[in-house]
Amino acid sequence: MAATQDSVTCAVCMEVYRSPRFLPCYHSFCLPCLEELANKHGKIIRCPTCRAPATVPPGGVCDLQVNFYFTEEALEEVRNEKSQSRCPVHTKECVIFYCTQCDQAICIRCKLTKHEGHTTEDLSEKVARCKKTIEDKLQSIMANISLGKDKLEFCRQNEKGALEKRAAVRKQVLQMMETFQSRAGEMIGLMEGDLTNYSLQCIERQDRMTDRLEREKEAERLDRKEEAERLARERAGDRLEREGDMTRLEEYIPELPMFQEDSDDIDAYI
Ligand SMILES: [Zn+2]
Ligand SMILES: [Zn+2]
Ligand SMILES: [Zn+2]
Ligand SMILES: [Zn+2]
Repeated sequence: MAATQDSVTCAVCMEVYRSPRFLPCYHSFCLPCLEELANKHGKIIRCPTCRAPATVPPGGVCDLQVNFYFTEEALEEVRNEKSQSRCPVHTKECVIFYCTQCDQAICIRCKLTKHEGHTTEDLSEKVARCKKTIEDKLQSIMANISLGKDKLEFCRQNEKGALEKRAAVRKQVLQMMETFQSRAGEMIGLMEGDLTNYSLQCIERQDRMTDRLEREKEAERLDRKEEAERLARERAGDRLEREGDMTRLEEYIPELPMFQEDSDDIDAYI
């Protein structure tokens, strides 16, 4: 219910209701006004408006039905309005004009005396215009806030995207390094196997050469010239082959990949 000044005025004190209570006749009065009546008249009081008798409850007038139509908030608002809309000079008059020259709300008596000849307008129109200006400004502020929020959200999304991209790149690099390490490990294994084979072959060949040399010396001692010559030729062949082995080994060794276990530095790059 809209609280107009007339509907919220107590008929006893002529002020805006203070904690209003209903009498059984449904007329409302302030609690303090009813308390005053009960103090004067005892258990039975008469309605100040319609004179209908009402019995005061055992707990006192405060136990009468509360008038819930007017919240304390609404009553307070009307009280403020009432005090503000009175002319400070002519206290019985309400301010109803706005003097644009003096930038001030005035009553009819002000308009006819102190503000005579000044340009005035209807106060309610001025109030409506002010309200509209405030609402417009509020709207523009709200729009700016909303825009700011959008921008903030956009930045958050961008930041999130950048972080995701960074994580993806990091993962990719780590995977590449892992693949590289395992492949390098395999290669080293293979090369080590090859080297072992070569070394074994070299040792075998060396043994064979030693054996032939001994047999060659034995043949010379026994003056078996043909056999000695054949063994010398075979030994020369062995020597050539061994030189070939050594060359291959020497060529092989620089191919071994130089390998670094330390992969912590990756964080410095991604
Ligand atoms: Zn009252
Ligand atoms: Zn009544
Ligand atoms: Zn006045
Ligand atoms: Zn004026």
